[in-house]
Amino acid sequence: MNVSSVARQLKVTTQELLEKLPSLGFDVGLRAIKIDDKLVPKIVAAWKHQQKRDAFRATFSDIQEIRGNEGDNLTPKEKKEVNIPEVIIVKDLAELMRLPVARLMAELMRNGIMVSLNEKIDFDTASIIAEDLGFKATKSDQAVVEESSQREKLELLLSQRTAKTTTRPPVVVVMGHVDHGKTKLLDAIRETNVVDQEAGGITQHIGAYQVTTHDHLITFLDTPGHEAFKAMRSRGGQIADVAILVVAADDGLQPQTLESIAVIQKEKLPFLVAINKIDKEGADIDRVKQQLSELNLVPEDWGGKTICQPISAKQKTGINEILDLVLLVADLNDLKADATGAAVGTIIESHVDKSEGPVATVLVQAGTLNIGDLFIVGSVSGKIKTLKDWKGKDVSQALPATPIKILGLKQIPAIGEILEVILNKKDFKAKNKNLNTYKTSSTTIHYNNQSEDLDSENILNLIIKSDVLGSAEAIEGALNKIAVEGSKAKVIKKGLGQLTEADVLNAESAKALLIGFHVKVNKALHSLADDKRVTILYFDIIYKLLEDIEARLKKLKSKKTIHKLLGKLEVLAIFKTNKKSMIVGGKVISGKIIKAAKIKLLRNNEIETIGELGSLQAGKVDVTEVVEGQEAGLEFIGEPIIQVGDTLEFFEEIYE
Ligand code: GDP
Repeated sequence: MNVSSVARQLKVTTQELLEKLPSLGFDVGLRAIKIDDKLVPKIVAAWKHQQKRDAFRATFSDIQEIRGNEGDNLTPKEKKEVNIPEVIIVKDLAELMRLPVARLMAELMRNGIMVSLNEKIDFDTASIIAEDLGFKATKSDQAVVEESSQREKLELLLSQRTAKTTTRPPVVVVMGHVDHGKTKLLDAIRETNVVDQEAGGITQHIGAYQVTTHDHLITFLDTPGHEAFKAMRSRGGQIADVAILVVAADDGLQPQTLESIAVIQKEKLPFLVAINKIDKEGADIDRVKQQLSELNLVPEDWGGKTICQPISAKQKTGINEILDLVLLVADLNDLKADATGAAVGTIIESHVDKSEGPVATVLVQAGTLNIGDLFIVGSVSGKIKTLKDWKGKDVSQALPATPIKILGLKQIPAIGEILEVILNKKDFKAKNKNLNTYKTSSTTIHYNNQSEDLDSENILNLIIKSDVLGSAEAIEGALNKIAVEGSKAKVIKKGLGQLTEADVLNAESAKALLIGFHVKVNKALHSLADDKRVTILYFDIIYKLLEDIEARLKKLKSKKTIHKLLGKLEVLAIFKTNKKSMIVGGKVISGKIIKAAKIKLLRNNEIETIGELGSLQAGKVDVTEVVEGQEAGLEFIGEPIIQVGDTLEFFEEIYE
């Protein structure tokens, strides 16, 4: 692509772009006219990231003001150190820094990163945020620790398998420095060697694929963008039998090549080196071999043991040789598995699909995975509903070393987690009982058995219903971490699906707030809820929910507060918008408004914000009360986000 087109896309001049590129790590030359198409998205992403950082810096002083001076005025020496792994879940990062999760999420949002508290962010993002919050971020090996427990589990499960008699395909992982051609090689292998092209032709990116060469199957791990490997790190080594180390002949060994070699050696993983891009000017195969020799990885043709194969992934040369070598290495290692009995495997990919819900790819490592199998993976249990191979074809079972997409999950498992099929229903039930998750039925409500606190004054009881499994758990986890001295939120019940009358009645008897998260608003419930004085809150964003609950907890500190609905007003006009207030006009559609009322802004039945009533007028005269059917003008003190068409709910706080 022309540099000028990229510059236009980024809304800068060509010169500005070229001058800034080296600082973003792209060396295209100050007089470049074209940029490699493959680099363009990376440049655009890096540019935007930098812009966000700059914007963030610009508002940094404001943030400092909000936060007080707690971290940023510290000299680097005094900064608290925080040890962050390669990948970390947002709420865990908050815990590491001993900050409320809502606060961390606010920082992430300010930095343009929209994630939920249960999502993972990488070390780079986490460290930027941590440093901006006044911490000194260092990379920890915690990921390795977590991995090792999974690894031990897998090793134990596999060691229990005795009938290791079935030859299985080798599982191959491609490693190497960025841009050295890993993706291109995986594409070239897929394109040249997939025999079965007739099956619709559409290959699914499920994190792995299989090719046939000389009547032998080979499984390639093909994680998009290699993100999974980043997370899995040595797990790539744990589940693969052979590694292909890709080194670009025109670039030689680079930092990530060395990292990959370290993993290969640590895992004692058989490997071969694909010296790629030999078609390129400047390609120097001997230089790569020399560099390998310096690391004691002397190539075979130089008298050593390291298998090297020059290739061009672009021109598809040397690809068949690579496959032959993979088979050779696999043969040497005599790969066998126990294909009988209950399946055990590792999750290599997982995501939520719009139509299919939570899906994951499992690499089966022992046994045979069948439709209908009951399984446990991490803290999730389920039953295999559908199995699809990497071409998207429905299959009824999967043998060892087969990557297979599974449906029937209630929650997405983490990459690297071990899936274990339990054939005996009783055993499954027993194991399932121990899982820290909720049960399978979509209407099940999980009762928290610590009910002795129900009437305690400073506990804010909550009943949460959510759509996706995991959300309520995540909310509960985050709520537990909200620190408001003297009061705390407690999820007394949680379940899946829409809010029901029973939920309202439960909330009434437990004096709990009823929360619907990512569930459809059930309008029919509102009059019952009003009647029972049960507050129903709907949220779609965890962050907003946490903020709301935190605010409620602060109020709850000394007294228990109940919101008594007084009346509702439909907003018909916006007269003035100030920084922290608005003057609006509207019609009272039910009840009445009194001067001392507080105001909830509802949009689509979700509370957007809560404010105070400043002044109240009817017919341009100050009044203390306006009743149903009358029009009123009022000053709303709070976040100025009211729009025409919104409903304002007026309420009174009653202390019990
Ligand atoms: P990855 O980051 O290791 O996955 O690298 P990619 O597969 O994305 O390749 C990086 C760039 O190198 C892309 O522009 C590819 O088209 C290019 N590339 C990969 N293999 C070859 C090759 O054999 N010859 C040439 N000339 N370019 C290649």
